Order: sequence, then structure tokens, then C-alpha cells
Amino acid sequence: MRIAVLSETEGAETRVAATPETVKKYKTLGADVAVQAGAGAKAGITDAEFEAAGAAIASSREEALKDADVVLKVRRPAEGELSGVKPGALVIAIMDPYGQDAALKALADAKVAAFSMELMPRITRAQVMDVLSSQANLAGYRAVIDATAEYGRAMPMMMTAAGTVPAARVFVMGAGVAGLQAVATARRLGAVVTATDVRPAAKEQVESLGAKFIAVEDEEFKQAETAGGYAKEMSAEYRAKQAELVASHIAKQDIVITTALIPGRPAPKLVTKAMVESMKPGSVIVDLAVERGGNCEVSKPGKIATHNGVKIVGHLNVPGRLAATASSLYAKNLYAFVETLVDKESKTLSVKWDDELVKATCLTRDGAVVHPAFQPAA
Ligand code: NAD
Repeated sequence: MRIAVLSETEGAETRVAATPETVKKYKTLGADVAVQAGAGAKAGITDAEFEAAGAAIASSREEALKDADVVLKVRRPAEGELSGVKPGALVIAIMDPYGQDAALKALADAKVAAFSMELMPRITRAQVMDVLSSQANLAGYRAVIDATAEYGRAMPMMMTAAGTVPAARVFVMGAGVAGLQAVATARRLGAVVTATDVRPAAKEQVESLGAKFIAVEDEEFKQAETAGGYAKEMSAEYRAKQAELVASHIAKQDIVITTALIPGRPAPKLVTKAMVESMKPGSVIVDLAVERGGNCEVSKPGKIATHNGVKIVGHLNVPGRLAATASSLYAKNLYAFVETLVDKESKTLSVKWDDELVKATCLTRDGAVVHPAFQPAA
């Protein structure tokens, strides 16, 4: 069994899909690991460290891919990136498959079995493989650090001889994995924190972190969580009530962190231009949903925009701003999944195609798109 770890080709991607720690684990599974030269550079991992862990360093992508049974990446391989790959190879990455019919067809045409890690079911057995959680948790943390850096004031209340500094008021919108970590981080820094979500379960979680929960708690709110634990897209009526509540609250905030997402849909717009204009100059908004269209009407992907004196931070790939930690956790998520695809006795790949985790994540196989949610339109 041969595993290839490729460099990321997307310019802004800093993470890498394996670490020396996971290379050692793959070796104990009986695999040979080839790491493309420089793959770990942006995450602070040298080729020498990979080599010391037992990997072979491949001087090119083609060399790394040669005879590979498993290809590990952070992002979906771009067109042509898999040229020369063995038909039937498993390619495992964050595939971002929604609305990507052409890219999925290209993976099918390459005859690889492509797995999308972010489709991993959120069940107990798969928690260790949950890349959405491992990366969102870091994004939530980093969002607060980025907000603090842009905010020209201190976060905690300080009583000094020269006077008292008030605590910053932080409002977190969307209290999933990223939002809850943002709440916890802002609390640790001494801010006064409030948070909102459309799922009732979030209320207790927010309160257990010492923050105040703010939401329109009507009948629709009580039904807003899907069986999978995600939020539903809310009705126009609910959104209007929510906007009214948020409008009065947001004007009093110093920092707003938005994290709201709905699987497979554009991010809900929660912060309007008028709401931004109601905030004090010097306030900061960090829009973590910017890659999915943004939660704030005036955020700009990849930019720190200023509107009416309010800074709106729209960094892309926020987990990648903590490249070493994000790679370490992502690599462990990948290893945990790959381990389930290997027969420990024979030390060979043995994919159980009817396994719940495989079925949920496998996008393409034997030349076709096989995932029911991504069938090409008839
Ligand atoms: P997500 O990234 O899909 O969305 C972020 C948050 O935005 C969610 O809490 C969502 O409810 C919220 N949101 C959506 N629309 C909103 C709106 N209009 N206004 C306000 N908030 C809105 O969510 P996530 O972080 O991936 O978490 C989703 C769920 O999965 C949570 O219930 C979480 O606890 C659960 N989870 C379970 C496991 C597990 O069991 N293994 C692991 C991780 C997360």
C-alpha cells in the first residue's frame, strides 16, 4: 500500500494533509508514504522531518503519485493535478463538492474513488474524523484573535491608576463549533459576550460558557434543528423578527463574529449594511462565512473592508491562519479515516463500500459520480 501526500496548489492554502506524526502511524499500518517535496513548508514542517518519520520525499507531484493507492490532500485536486494517478486510487480531501458538477465529473473521469471528508457523518464513531469540527474550532479561536488585533482597544475590563477601561462587548452569531470556540476565547480574554443561533440546543451551550443567549425563541426556532444537528434555512418571517432583534443589539457591540452556515446553501445574511452603520466607528466584524457568501452584507472575501469606520474582516481560509495546528488536527482526522479502510492483518487496503462512513463520503467511483446528493442533473 502506497500513500501519496501532495503539496497544495491553491495559492492561499497553508495546510498539509499529513504530519511526521501521522506518517509514522501510516508506516505502522504497513504503508509506504511519499511526500511531495515542500508539501509541509507553509505549515512549518520540513522535508527532513517527514523523512525522519519514514516518508520518502518525492521531487515532483508525478513522482509522489506514481503507483499511489491513496492520495491525501487538503483541498480538492484541481484539473490535471491527478494526471498519472492509478485508476481506482482513493483520493481523500476536503472536496467542497456543492455546485461543483464539472470538478466531480473530472474526478470520476480520472477513475479515482474521491472522498469528501466534510461529508463525514457526525456520529460518535466518526468524531475523530470530523474535519469540519477540527477546523471550525480553530477558525472560531482565530476569529477572536483577528478581531482583537483589528480592534484598537483592550478586551478585558482594566482598573488602572489612569482610569478604568471597559470590557469589550462581543456578539457571536451562529453558535456551532466555531461560534462556541469564539465565545469561549472572547470570554477568556475578558470580553462581555452574547451569542445567537437558530437551534434551541445552542442556548444551553452558550450559557454554559458564561455568555448570554439572544434569539427569537418562537415555534419555528423550536423546530430549526435538522436530524443531522444542522440549522434549517429559516422563513422570511423568522428572518425579519431575527433582524429586528439583532438590529437593536448589534448597535451596542464592539466586536461581532459571524459563523452562521446552512449545509449546501449560501450563508444567511444576518448583518445588513444598515446594522453596520449603526455600530460605533472602531468596531470590528469578523465574517467567518465569507467563503460561502458571507453573513454580512458589506464583507469582502479576502479583504479587511471599512464601512462607516467599522472594520469588516473577511479573511479566507481562517484555519489556514493557524497552519501548523490546523494541519496537525486535519492529518489526524485523515489518519483515523484511512485506518478504517485498511485490513490490519494483511496490511492492505480493504474498503467496505457499504460502510456508513464510506457511503456518506464517497463521491466518485469506477468512473461515475456515486454519491446520491451529487448526481448530475438529468
Ligand atoms: P455550521 O457550521 O453548519 O453552522 C454554524 C452555526 O450557524 C450553527 O450552529 C447553525 O445553527 C447556525 N446558524 C445557521 N443559520 C443561522 C441563522 N440564520 N442565525 C443564526 N445562526 C444560524 O454548524 P456546525 O458548527 O458544523 O455545527 C452543527 C451542529 O453539529 C451543531 O449541533 C453541533 O453541536 C453539531 N456537531 C456534532 C458533532 C458530533 O456529534 N460529532 C460534532 C460537531 C458538531
